[in-house]
Amino acid sequence: MQLTLKKGILFVLSGPSGAGKNTLLNAVLEKVPEVYYSVSATTRPSRPGEVHGRNYFFLSPEEFKQGIEAGEFLEWTEFCGHYYGTPRRFIDEQLAEGKSVIMDIDINGAAQIKRQLPQVVSVFLLPPNLTVLHQRLVGRASEGEKAIRERLDKALCEVQALADYDYVIVNEDLHLAVERMKAIIMAERQRVSRIDCQRIIDQVTRGNV
Ligand code: ADP
Ligand code: 5GP
Repeated sequence: MQLTLKKGILFVLSGPSGAGKNTLLNAVLEKVPEVYYSVSATTRPSRPGEVHGRNYFFLSPEEFKQGIEAGEFLEWTEFCGHYYGTPRRFIDEQLAEGKSVIMDIDINGAAQIKRQLPQVVSVFLLPPNLTVLHQRLVGRASEGEKAIRERLDKALCEVQALADYDYVIVNEDLHLAVERMKAIIMAERQRVSRIDCQRIIDQVTRGNV
């Protein structure tokens, strides 16, 4: 029997650049049905293999500023010299239809979301240590040395926000991290406060024994 949610669940995943948020989410979204990824807008240049509309909406700074003025972003921030923001409409539509959404956003964005939507479920992804984080950023080869240094410096301040989150996952073994993220999603879907109780009671008690 499928539990019907009263409203979709909004999940936020944050963590230092290189912690493995994208890698984790790709694996989770492949395995967990009915959770949708919130595609952010950004002014940073696309990396090889990134697709407009799938990984990000790649905008010029002017287009991004127009979006801010038009109130199109649920939250937005500046991160390492580029703008990043969450298109509001997709989130509103999915949640209203009872679908769950996962956002990969930084700690500033997560704080903005928490103020607007306190029922959000927030997860912080940590690397096992900063040496591993450095190796992952170097291995990803998407930024130069200077940008990697900037992201590592930022990581030191970002991890201080851990206590503001609901859940933590240390991404050492990817398979384990994926299982833990799946477990968080599944547990949140079983919360009595999120489901249509009367409907389940009616289904269970229908008919005589
Ligand atoms: P983020 O989205 O947090 O910036 P990515 O998902 O791009 O991070 O991961 C950064 C790099 O680390 C990628 O090259 C990815 O393949 C690698 N990576 C992610 N998780 C693990 C892991 N558990 N073990 C080893 N490498 C990992
Ligand atoms: P990257 O350039 O590595 O894709 O992302 C850099 C940082 O921006 C990551 O910490 C990521 O979580 C964050 N980010 C991506 N999209 C958004 C967004 O829409 N809003 C906010 N606030 N942060 C975002």
